[in-house]
Amino acid sequence: MKISCRETQHLISAYLNDEISDRECAAFLAHIGTCPKCMHELETSFMLTYALQYIDSHEKLSTDIGTLLKEKLHKSAMRLRLNRLLSVLMWIMIVTMGIAILLILASLLFREFLPSAWTDLLEQIEQVLSGS
Ligand SMILES: [Zn+2]
Repeated sequence: MKISCRETQHLISAYLNDEISDRECAAFLAHIGTCPKCMHELETSFMLTYALQYIDSHEKLSTDIGTLLKEKLHKSAMRLRLNRLLSVLMWIMIVTMGIAILLILASLLFREFLPSAWTDLLEQIEQVLSGS
């Protein structure tokens, strides 16, 4: 998903407040990485947001706001990668479970065509499941 400068700048406050979806975040980071104009907008908004939070919290003011923004961008990119990996793993699990269910159904329906080792194994499993 590609987004325009206008859409990117519209997402800045949502991004800074962590109110952005993964899909929007991916498009946002991709745009920010290639557009100096929007990066500058983000830096300015980040500084303002950070300054307001500082006034509210009276925490120690970091002198290197640029580094803080880089850390935030890095964390966002890492979170996206982790979420992508997790969704791939989830799909692998779903497909594996689906194949397992199909194999079980097939072995129940076509028992007479199975090799004897497999039918012996199925009988053992059935005995264990029935508790005898
Ligand atoms: Zn832009």
